[in-house]
Amino acid sequence: MCCQIFTKLNDRPDIICKVFKIKLDELLKDLKNESIFGKPKAIVYTVEFQKCGLPHCHILLFIQQSEKTRSSHDIEQHISAEIPDEQMQPKLYKLVQKFMVHDPCGVLNVSNPCMVNEKCSKFYPMAFCERTLIDNAGFPKYKRPDNGHTMNKKNVDVDNRYIVPYNAALLLKYSCHINVEYTCQTSTIKYLFKLFGFEIQFKEPNIICLPFHLPNEQNVLYEDHQLLENVIESATAKDSMFMGWMKANKEFEVACNLTFAELPSYFVWDKQGHLWRPWKQGHTFANILSVDGVAFYTYKEACYALGLLQDDKEFIDAINEASSWVSPFYIRRLFAMLLMSNNIVCPDVVWQQCWKHCADDVLYDKR
Ligand SMILES: [Zn+2]
Repeated sequence: MCCQIFTKLNDRPDIICKVFKIKLDELLKDLKNESIFGKPKAIVYTVEFQKCGLPHCHILLFIQQSEKTRSSHDIEQHISAEIPDEQMQPKLYKLVQKFMVHDPCGVLNVSNPCMVNEKCSKFYPMAFCERTLIDNAGFPKYKRPDNGHTMNKKNVDVDNRYIVPYNAALLLKYSCHINVEYTCQTSTIKYLFKLFGFEIQFKEPNIICLPFHLPNEQNVLYEDHQLLENVIESATAKDSMFMGWMKANKEFEVACNLTFAELPSYFVWDKQGHLWRPWKQGHTFANILSVDGVAFYTYKEACYALGLLQDDKEFIDAINEASSWVSPFYIRRLFAMLLMSNNIVCPDVVWQQCWKHCADDVLYDKR
């Protein structure tokens, strides 16, 4: 006979698992059938286990377009981040106090486990907010009015800024921590990645970023506190990877036949020394301008001759097409906009092919 007295929740993992599963099944049934948030078209969930072994679940609910919660008023109907009225809703008040208050942190308790670098990693306390808002990116800011309402948690009086968003009906029924949040498209996808535990970074083979630049236009990295003289001194003393490639061309015969992109296959970039070292030395700024013996004035023209840039056919097509349904006035504006966007490689070529559309009304106007 077992006379052991169980004092902690995780002393009985068998019961925890059974109760958790019963509640989860019931919750999923509610979410599917009872239409608490509207009829869902899809549900995704994962069960995770905290360090102490207690299970919890992340559920993502996709609501049918027609019933989708859109306005901030709709969100307020489903999600609350406020302390309920203790007299009017005593049961809900007790449940919020027990399950939906972020433990006092920040100035109230600097040693709470949520604190990282003297800041709450969960962003509590949240800012007061008189009504629920959705920002331009689609993220909600829940209503947390500065109305003087407080509740005691761990011997500290906390206000609405510490309430974790909840749904009153779910909290009353399940009597456990159920954080409910509205999420927009972007964060839904991020959340799905988190749910599925997908890697968000993968590199195979090893990828090296090769920045190139015009003479004296390389990026210079410096810290806010650095003196300007030191920034200039170190910038002039250190070669960029691109300049390093040119030096390697002079130094190593084998590098002469390697393009900038091919160089990392045979050389390794020494971050300290700011130079390429052979691991298993010509290109200069001047000879990049030369293609098949023809010297170009700009790097863009040289790239064009090498076929590295797209031609301007799409711009010519766009102007030709537009000319059939808009006036020459608008064609001129379109041409000017294309010029300003700096995407046309050879503006004179485009002009030669399209100037008649731009000037179609000139003779008429002059008559
Ligand atoms: Zn915190």
